[in-house]
Amino acid sequence: MSTLADFRAETRDWLEENCPEEVRRPGFVPWGSRQIELDEPTRFWLDRMADRGWTVPTWPREYGGAEITRDEYAVLIDELKRINARPPLTGRGVNYIGPTLLEYGSDEQKARWLPGISRGDGGWAMGYSEPGAGSDLASLSLRAVKDGDNYLLNGRKIWTSDAMEADYIFVLARTSPDKPKHEGISLILVDMSQPGVTVRPIRLISGASPFNETLFEDAVAPVDDVVGGVDHGWTVGKRLLQFERSTHAGINTSGSQGGGSEDARMPEKLSAYVDADSRGRILDHGLRDRLIRFEQAGHAQRLTQQRVIEETQARAPGFASSAVKLSGALHHQDGHELLLEAMGTQGVGWEGETFESREINTTREWLRQKALTIAGGTKEVQLNIIAKRVLGLPD
Ligand SMILES: Cc1cc2nc3c(=O)[nH]c(=O)nc-3n(C[C@H](O)[C@H](O)[C@H](O)COP(=O)(O)OP(=O)(O)OC[C@H]3O[C@@H](n4cnc5c(N)ncnc54)[C@H](O)[C@@H]3O)c2cc1C
Repeated sequence: MSTLADFRAETRDWLEENCPEEVRRPGFVPWGSRQIELDEPTRFWLDRMADRGWTVPTWPREYGGAEITRDEYAVLIDELKRINARPPLTGRGVNYIGPTLLEYGSDEQKARWLPGISRGDGGWAMGYSEPGAGSDLASLSLRAVKDGDNYLLNGRKIWTSDAMEADYIFVLARTSPDKPKHEGISLILVDMSQPGVTVRPIRLISGASPFNETLFEDAVAPVDDVVGGVDHGWTVGKRLLQFERSTHAGINTSGSQGGGSEDARMPEKLSAYVDADSRGRILDHGLRDRLIRFEQAGHAQRLTQQRVIEETQARAPGFASSAVKLSGALHHQDGHELLLEAMGTQGVGWEGETFESREINTTREWLRQKALTIAGGTKEVQLNIIAKRVLGLPD
């Protein structure tokens, strides 16, 4: 009988043979977009991992997975981290819509979509938020009207990350406007390469445009691409949000395997800016104290992730996702505040020769981290969920 030790040994040997040196360091991780060309080692790594079912290791084999157990999954992640390997594939395909299809899709939908998703064939955007529906998502108004074998979609989604390079988008749309607002919504898969879908970039203060407004003008989606049944989108869509939150939280065992966190490098990054004694102890007591607390919190976060994964029988944790997502986001933000404080004026550079490029990147990263308590549901929304669903407090 094969033991975990055997699995580890086989995994180690296989990775040694198949993981190119070039992907054993931080860098671009594909998310399936056909519009982004992959360099040779990244393509090779993705294909080898997909052939082995390790882009989505816990999925059934028929859909591109390897059906490994949760214990084996933990070993696989451990071995990937040991050699610093990048995940071969990430994104909303393997982490959000794929796991949702596994739970709510029909057999035909699973057979049609999942093998491609597991190989990174097509990148996905997420069409939930609208100008009038963010935290109050059930107020969404994108309309889907049945027209023979298709739905015609009309309306507007906003903050659609990566939509400019996505091949598909899953949307929450209103299929029955006469029903109570939570009961007339459907989750629909839409091909973005059609004239009815227009993507308009939203330019951020940094000059980058990772966000978009996505317009639907008589966009067509086959009725076969409604997931979980017409008007059941609220239930299906909420489950997808749990997969999103558990991905942010690092506890989604139904998706691709996560990479290492940059937080572990915080003491090293910080040490470039602070005075230390001959034993390497930071002289500033206040800063030293905060760094120690940050490291303790990081350790607690990792143990909590491990515990939640071990305790969860389902493919991904339910409401606990909100708690671990939130504590993780606050922890990342705390680390960046600490780093910026240690950097002093070098931490507030935007451009110019006085700042090194890594310093400018740190400032931008500090700003980017602010979004962690908005994306995937705001901090206040997570606190509401924790209060009601985890702690059982009254409404
Ligand atoms: C980096 C990033 C990526 C994103 N990517 C996508 C994407 O790909 N697809 C997509 O659909 N959306 C995406 N979003 C949008 C995101 O889901 C919404 O921004 C978020 O749900 C909040 O909605 P809102 O912006 O409309 O804010 P609002 O809902 O208007 O909230 C404004 C403020 O009011 C507070 N608030 C609202 N309701 C309550 C309440 N009941 N109790 C207490 N406080 C409340 C909120 O916490 C917030 O502070 C992304 C957002 C970010 C930042």
